[in-house]
Amino acid sequence: MFDKILIANRGEIALRVIRAAREMGIATVAVHSTADSDAMHVRMADESVCIGPAPSPQSYLSIPAIISACEITGAQAIHPGYGFLSENADFVQIVEDHGITFIGPTAEHIRIMGDKITAKDTMKELGVPCVPGSDGGVPDLATAKRIGEEIGYPVIIKATAGGGGRGMKVAQTADEMESAFMTARAEGKAAFGNDEVYIEKYLTTPRHIEIQVFGDGKGNAVHLGERDCSLQRRHQKVFEEAPGPCITPEERARIGKICAEAVAKINYIGAGTIEFLYENGEFYFIEMNTRLQVEHPVTEAIFGVDLVREQIRVAAGEPMSFGQDDLKINGHAIEVRINAEKLPNFSPCPGKITAYHAPGGLGVRMDSALYDGYSIPPYYDSLIGKLIVHGRDRPEALARLNRALGELIVDGVDTTIPLFRALLQEPDVHSGDYNIHWLEHWLAENMSQ
Ligand code: ADP
Repeated sequence: MFDKILIANRGEIALRVIRAAREMGIATVAVHSTADSDAMHVRMADESVCIGPAPSPQSYLSIPAIISACEITGAQAIHPGYGFLSENADFVQIVEDHGITFIGPTAEHIRIMGDKITAKDTMKELGVPCVPGSDGGVPDLATAKRIGEEIGYPVIIKATAGGGGRGMKVAQTADEMESAFMTARAEGKAAFGNDEVYIEKYLTTPRHIEIQVFGDGKGNAVHLGERDCSLQRRHQKVFEEAPGPCITPEERARIGKICAEAVAKINYIGAGTIEFLYENGEFYFIEMNTRLQVEHPVTEAIFGVDLVREQIRVAAGEPMSFGQDDLKINGHAIEVRINAEKLPNFSPCPGKITAYHAPGGLGVRMDSALYDGYSIPPYYDSLIGKLIVHGRDRPEALARLNRALGELIVDGVDTTIPLFRALLQEPDVHSGDYNIHWLEHWLAENMSQ
């Protein structure tokens, strides 16, 4: 096992990793930009290294700075968290070339899944059901129009290098194909330096269901059921839960087995998430994330496992501490993402926290790097905390969420807390009856400017 690991991240996820490491008796190194000298992850780690100025390309994304920090401190492994360098295959290669262990999948697996076309081809070969669409990249508009006719409108044009909801455009009819095709290409080029796009049937009322998988890199893998992340704004998740309110035990077992077998076949190591759209009882693969997800705590809550601990174990060459038969669902968990954003536009709202009080009590977990008097810097993501609740069933989890939101105090900046309080008044949220478009419609009706 490692003696010391470095966490190449900030905010709540850096704390999350420090906590797991500390329970395992592993020393931790935080890295930070000059804007984060007073950040909680710096205070909580055993050691810290300043790796550059505030803009992330010069600090949290600076590979030489992070490798140097490892060498200076003698850290044997790097946990990347999510975002930043977590899905950068070149980074993983460089880390390994320096004799440091990357706590996550291999560069090869990250590369395969980072290219959405290769990912889809690979998954199809491994027996995972996919959304009907183009076979690979679509070179020009004429081909795009032909494929549109073949699979039938509406269709979605997606940048093969896309991520974070960017580089995707829907064409409702053949008339809209030209502008959607050109825009998706331009966005892909601008945001990811790659203008290759592909086309999928646009599912009109799906839910977003994702399967958590975990492998030991030696051909053994398990699934930890699903998370339902259908409540989204601009393709970004805001409310996640496990198990999915509409998934039966038989469906879970079927799709879970397909996913676990797929990753076992490629000797996948560590945590991964296979994302699907789910409509009329069918699962359609959209992408795989080769890292820990923001919403992993809902899975931890219902299975009672520590996914970060498990990531560190397998990275150190140890076996997973559970097998498929050990994984039994207990109750229901929900996570809401607390962002420093001003409603109704969700515009980022950095600033000084004048008062912070985290909720507590049975079944409540608050993952946040906030503290009284902390100043949220304007340079990074607006996620400032995740509130996770666990109950014996969904109604109990919802009641607990409402209670915990009532206790949570974040003063000094605007946050998304009022959004969740309002959502908890909605009968559809209580019945679980929604698809990926529900929140956009609700926002238009209830929070329009
Ligand atoms: P990203 O990598 O940007 O997150 P994804 O491929 O995971 O992109 O898609 C993000 C979201 O976009 C999905 O959760 C869903 O809301 C929507 N989406 C993606 N593909 C389709 C599709 N074929 N039909 C309908 N909606 C889709």
